Amino acid sequence: MLPRYRVNGEEIDSLDLKILLITKGASVSADVYEQFAKTHRISPNPLECNCLVLPGNIVVHMTDVGPASPFRLGIAANGNALLSYQNAPVTEVSFPPKTDFYRQLTSSSRPFLGMAVLQGLDVLSFPYLWSCHHAQSGQACQFCHCGSFSEQLAREGNPEPSFPTPQDVAEVVEYAFKIEHLAQYVQITGGSLVNSELECRRAFEALLAIHGIAGFEKIPSEISVFTSPLNDPALIDQLFEAGADRVACDIEVWDEELAQRICPGKAPAGSRERHLKTLTHIADKYGPNKAGSAFVVGVEPVESFLAGAEFLAGRGIVPIVSIWMPHGRPVMGKSEAPGLDYYRKVRDGIAEIFYKYKIEPPGGAGFNVCICRDTYNHCI
Ligand code: SF4
Repeated sequence: MLPRYRVNGEEIDSLDLKILLITKGASVSADVYEQFAKTHRISPNPLECNCLVLPGNIVVHMTDVGPASPFRLGIAANGNALLSYQNAPVTEVSFPPKTDFYRQLTSSSRPFLGMAVLQGLDVLSFPYLWSCHHAQSGQACQFCHCGSFSEQLAREGNPEPSFPTPQDVAEVVEYAFKIEHLAQYVQITGGSLVNSELECRRAFEALLAIHGIAGFEKIPSEISVFTSPLNDPALIDQLFEAGADRVACDIEVWDEELAQRICPGKAPAGSRERHLKTLTHIADKYGPNKAGSAFVVGVEPVESFLAGAEFLAGRGIVPIVSIWMPHGRPVMGKSEAPGLDYYRKVRDGIAEIFYKYKIEPPGGAGFNVCICRDTYNHCI
């Protein structure tokens, strides 16, 4: 059973607390950074993708939004990190161990910082290995922080910085797996290219380089690739042949009318069909749990999200539950995430769906902003 707490007069568990922290952020006191950075992985630089670990080993993304959040992270009298809600103590928390990962450079002198992030206790992610053409043309998805970066540069007439090469990616994997043993899972993600065949090719080349430089035998669990859907779904086979364990094409929002408003570049007419064709090709050819689709949960009614999750799970496709982070990215004019009732329906619904269709989401200890693995680990 997950540990329980009292927050704002209500009894909640660690997974509720994770959701509240993702959606509301926290105010982190300067002495937490100062004290814990000596021994743990925590930094005031948001590019280092901070997380904290709640009792019960629940990993939570930590966005420092300053006093705008009712949560505060400070130091307790015993020297441990203490999470409070409106000045009432909630629980002590911990952080992953200290690492030199973010101080490293590849052989081409590209810093790891800004190219890759460590998530939680066992994940290495590449969040944006190529640009997003939708964002460049002013049509970023409303919730997407990476897309917003490209959109802003394009609006100001500034070029994007150069993107990492497959060799850069492979050297980061080599360091994380062979030198510091920081992860068990790799996630390869880019933006979204109009030419999705080219995007698939880029992921393929990254996999080949990882195989050549780091070696797949050093990756104990799995590599997931996130890519755009293809006109010819069979082209996705090259990713499995090159070593991918799972491939995801993210639908993001199941309600089609909302999807077109929230993702104006990514979700034009016909794109839903292309997503489903690519995902069912993978599931039919490689079996259950080999295809996945992320959803940004919190931006559409819970019923439509769960209908989408069940539709995919019934076909052996994993619905990946990523919690919407409203800080700085309003969706349809709203900056406030739904309340816990909404997310409890999400938790109960996906636990039932995972059980009914034997779905196993990716990951081991859990991801920073997704709750699918936590639900699978603790609620089924
Ligand atoms: S298409 Fe992908 S990368 Fe582009 S804005 Fe949408 S979510 Fe972000």
